[in-house]
Order: sequence, then C-alpha cells, then structure tokens
Amino acid sequence: RPADAHAIRSAFLSFFEERGHAAVPSSPLVPFDDPTLLFVNAGMVQFKDVFTGRDKRDYTRATSAQRCLRAGGKHNDLDNVGFTPRHHTLFEMLGNFSFGDYFKRDAIRWGWEFLTQVLELPAEKLVVSVFNGEGENAPFDQEAYDLWAEIIPKERIYAFDAKENFWQMGDTGPCGPCSEIHIWRGEGGAPPDGGKPGKGPAFEDDKYMELWNLVFMQYEKLASGEMTKLPAPSVDTGAGLERLAAVLEGVETNYETGLFVPIVDKVKALAGVSGHQGEREASYRVIADHARATAFLIADGVTPDQTGRPYVLRRIMRRAIRHATLVGLEDLFFHEVCDEVVNRFGEAYPELREAREVIAGAVKIEEEGFRRTLARGLRRVSKILAGLEAEGSKVFPVDEAADLYTSAGFPIDLTRVIAEENELTLDEAAVAEKLEAQKGESSFAGGGGSKVADVYFDIVNELGQGTAFLGYGATAGEATLK
Ligand code: ATP
Ligand code: MG
Ligand code: MG
Ligand code: MG
Repeated sequence: RPADAHAIRSAFLSFFEERGHAAVPSSPLVPFDDPTLLFVNAGMVQFKDVFTGRDKRDYTRATSAQRCLRAGGKHNDLDNVGFTPRHHTLFEMLGNFSFGDYFKRDAIRWGWEFLTQVLELPAEKLVVSVFNGEGENAPFDQEAYDLWAEIIPKERIYAFDAKENFWQMGDTGPCGPCSEIHIWRGEGGAPPDGGKPGKGPAFEDDKYMELWNLVFMQYEKLASGEMTKLPAPSVDTGAGLERLAAVLEGVETNYETGLFVPIVDKVKALAGVSGHQGEREASYRVIADHARATAFLIADGVTPDQTGRPYVLRRIMRRAIRHATLVGLEDLFFHEVCDEVVNRFGEAYPELREAREVIAGAVKIEEEGFRRTLARGLRRVSKILAGLEAEGSKVFPVDEAADLYTSAGFPIDLTRVIAEENELTLDEAAVAEKLEAQKGESSFAGGGGSKVADVYFDIVNELGQGTAFLGYGATAGEATLK
C-alpha cells in the first residue's frame, strides 16, 4: 500500500490508466475561458464542456490529480480552514471521469476497489450515501443504492437530500446526483448502524471524514435555472488527496500528514517554537494552508490586487499575515513559508519551481504593504484608546471602528480584539450595519465600489473561534495593548 501522498497520487493515476483512462495533467487554478467560475474547484472543471458535448476529446475516460481552490464562489471553505481537520483552500483532487462511457456500476466498483484493495482501508469502517430525491428535481437514486447493496451491508448506506448528495460546480453547468464514501473515525471498529435510507446522521460530525464523491452527471443547469438532460450519462469523481493521506498515515488531521508537517514546522521554526501549540495551533495551520494557496496561485499567474481573483489571493495572504501577528511573527516571513511550499511541491508541480522568484517577490511586496496598513491602523487605535481613557469611556465608538476599516483598511476583528483587551465594548452589529449602508451608497457613487469592497471583506469575524489575541509586541507601535 502507498506510503505517502505522492505515492497515493501515482497509485490512483495508474489504477485508472490500467482501466483505460487517459491521464490528463492538472489545469491551472484559473479556469480557461469561464467567467462563471472564480477558480477551479473540482477535477471536472477542465472537462465541463466535454460533459455537455460542446467539446470533444480523443478519449472517453480520463483521470487526473487536479489542484483546486475553494476560497470564494459556490464552494467556499476559507472560514473553515485551520479549524476543521479536513478543509483547505488549496487541495488536490484525484478523479476519474467517464464521458458517456461507463456509468454508475463501474464508478462504484472501482472506487470501492481502489480504497479497499489498493489503499487497503478497512471495509467495515466505510459508509456511503446516495441521493434521496429531495431538494432537486431528480428522483431517489435507487440504482446507486442497489449497486452499493451488492457490496456493503444496507445499514451502511445512507440517503440524503440535495444539500449533501446532488453535486453542482456552480450555479450553472453539469450536475447530478452523487454518492459519497466516508470513513468512520470514531471509537470501536465500525460506525453505529444508520438504519433505513433517508435516516441516520448527516456526516457533518468529525467522527466521519468524507473521502470520495462519485457524481453521476446526468443534467446541465442553465442560466435560466432550467435543468436539461446531458447528451449521455457520465461520471465525475473527486477524492481529496490530503484526506486519503491522513487516513493512510493514521493521523487525525490533514495537517499532521507529510504534506503539511514540513510547512507547519517551517512556520514554527520562524516563530521560534516547536511541537503542538495548543489553541495557537490553528494559526500555524492557517498560515501553512494559505502559503500553499498563495504559491500555487502566483505560479498560475494571479497577483494580489483589489478586485476579482487577485482580490481573493490578497485576502488569503492577509489572513495568513494576520494569523502571523497572533503568534508573534513580527518580521517579513511569509515569502519563506511559500518558498518551502515550492521546495516540497516543486517536483510534482514544476510550474512552482519556474515561478520561485516571482512568488517570493510578490509575497514580500504584499506583506510589506499590509504590515504598514496594520501599523498605521494601530497608531490610530492607540490615539482612540487614549481619548477614551481620558473620558473614562468603556465603549469603543462604532463610527471610529467603521472608519478605521474603510479609510485605513484595518480589520474589524482586530479592532474588536483590541477593544476586548482594553475592557471596552464594541457593538459589532452596528459597525456591520454602518459598513453595509456605506457599501450601498458607494455602489451608486460610481467608481468607488471596488475600493470599499476591498476593505470590506473582513467584516466576518475570521480570527474568532476561541483564538485569544496575543498582543502586537513590536508591531503594535504606539498602541497600548495589554
Ligand atoms: P465536505 O463535505 O467535507 O466539505 P464536499 O462535499 O464539499 O466536502 P466535494 O465537493 O464532494 O466535497 O469534493 C470532492 C472531494 O474533495 C471530497 O470528498 C473531499 O475528499 C475533497 N475536498 C472537498 N473540499 C475540500 C477541501 N476544502 N479541502 C480538502 N479536500 C476537500
Ligand atoms: Mg464542502
Ligand atoms: Mg460533503
Ligand atoms: Mg461531497
């Protein structure tokens, strides 16, 4: 059985090549000629038009290891990253595809075979789900249910509604009912029985980890909302490489696999710490994850800026740098973490090596700029705090918080944390309301829209989730922080 993620990737591609699939290289993260999609978020994206019949290839079966990004659009995992064991912004999706060739029987059979025979996962820990016919105009997937019933006990077959078991790339495009394979990671040898289809737990519980989604592409959603049948039933599957690695390496989270440990350790070395960092661990994970996304995005030609795709990259980079301030990383550091990503993934993805200098340069410039923004904001905050202290006020003014945000780009959640540290209250809902109103005005003002949007992004509390604020040390400048 494969020893690490790189071996899993090759084993997967060989397995499907042996079964008549053409091995197709990963496409870049920026979709080719597709304005409906921010980033490639699944292996099927580069085959979208092959499913609909608009594009023809000289193969009807394909397999790939596709780099994917889920930080915006329909599948947005940004806020989960670092806080769940299994979500990343950038990850690799292993997939096999049938374009009007084989359908459910082979997809299910091969998926099962790969997991239980090649990866040697214990069959009794695997559970599957099928579409129950609710939430989309498509019926209960009896066929998938019956096929699974030939392989595993019925108690391990669940049926869920469209939210879980009907897959679509975006608001338009090919889509269909899906069948997912999850692994039980709780106590005991096997999961509790699920009972009848349609009943049982949704696998949101961290005791289960979703490994593989088998999508039975049968429909296309049009911009009108109408759903039409595809020319031929097809298959699109996706399995997360980082998750397979976690299961095979016997670790609880993807961040403890060989894919992430070197990156996480690099960040810790720069911060002068080692070992598990308790409640701060999430920050190291966020930084490692975002460094991967940053390096791959820049290698694929995106550079940070104010709108669209470049803006998503900026947001990812700034989120990493804000987490860095939480763990006391005061100097420019992020380019070094991104360089470690190039070291680790350059062999599998040569485009990273080619872009090594470009990545380092762009990352340094962005970090310098954002650190200046933070320092400027902190100076203003310290003035506000001094004023409040003189007045004996215990309330951080809503107007000031909103203005820090819109005119200085200073993240609201940092204002909140600083307010808390100084035993002041901040009415965040009122700040959000105020910003919302300003955003509305600016979209009518013409030209100002994107600027406001640029600084608007942090209204959602991203650093929350139990992470305590450490203080800013040297970066704090004149801000009085306890
Ligand atoms: P989850 O329910 O865990 O969020 P999903 O149902 O959104 O996953 P799919 O859209 O079905 O995921 O994608 C196919 C596979 O890609 C998943 O089964 C999983 O192995 C992997 N995957 C999905 N999202 C991520 C992510 N953010 N990070 C890492 N792997 C992912
Ligand atoms: Mg998801
Ligand atoms: Mg899911
Ligand atoms: Mg899924």
